[in-house]
Amino acid sequence: MRFSVLSSGSKANSTFIEAGSKRFLIDCGLSARQTVLRLGKIGINAETLDAILITHEHSDHIGGVSVMSRKFRLPVYANKKTAAFIENVFDLQIFRTSSKFEFEDVVVNSFSTVHDVVDPVGYIIESEGIKFVQATDIGKVTPLMRHAVRGANVMVIESNHDEQMLRDCRYPWELKQRIASTHGHLSNAGCAELIAESIHPGLTHVVLAHLSENSNCPEAALKTMREYLDIQQFETFICASVEEPTPLIEVIAGQSKLAI
Ligand SMILES: [Zn+2]
Ligand SMILES: [Zn+2]
Repeated sequence: MRFSVLSSGSKANSTFIEAGSKRFLIDCGLSARQTVLRLGKIGINAETLDAILITHEHSDHIGGVSVMSRKFRLPVYANKKTAAFIENVFDLQIFRTSSKFEFEDVVVNSFSTVHDVVDPVGYIIESEGIKFVQATDIGKVTPLMRHAVRGANVMVIESNHDEQMLRDCRYPWELKQRIASTHGHLSNAGCAELIAESIHPGLTHVVLAHLSENSNCPEAALKTMREYLDIQQFETFICASVEEPTPLIEVIAGQSKLAI
């Protein structure tokens, strides 16, 4: 399995993942042009994509989906309520949240998250004995999410804000309330707690995602992580960025340097 977070943050979100013989995007918040460009940077031709999976209808997640889907004749998968917000795509496929669906050797599942939209989900993608989980735009960690990330080899997980930086930043009070609410975004500490309780020898790759540009920075996020975790023990422990894609990260089953 290989993946790269092409863009992550309040402006645009998109993750590339190659699992088994299939290639997906989770969300398509970049313009089609930027998506193609960033895929090119990691050596992937957009013509080889198979499908786009959508988490929720905020424009930073679906802004490029219509053009991208039609240009490359890509089916777009979403649950029913979210699908109502997706227009002008090549082919819209509706799934039931928490019902698995398959693409040959790849199993895709979704789980409900808590966020201020109609029916948000995170994704679990499993292939060749590797479990990839992505959850961003999460107001709070629920028992369902804890269950979803259990046994993950890869976690792409929201680490949106530093609680102190959010209190001190120049956002209007209402926006601060929204972000910090149970339907907003997950803090660095919330993210660190979830990772810490999900640790097992097979959890080798962690990408912190959806970092706020105004109330967070990679240094602050990683500082909080170090209070909860020995991040050196992971093969990958990095922050995704809205500016450029992460490297194309290869995940191999059984790859672990965790001494637990
Ligand atoms: Zn978002
Ligand atoms: Zn959102």
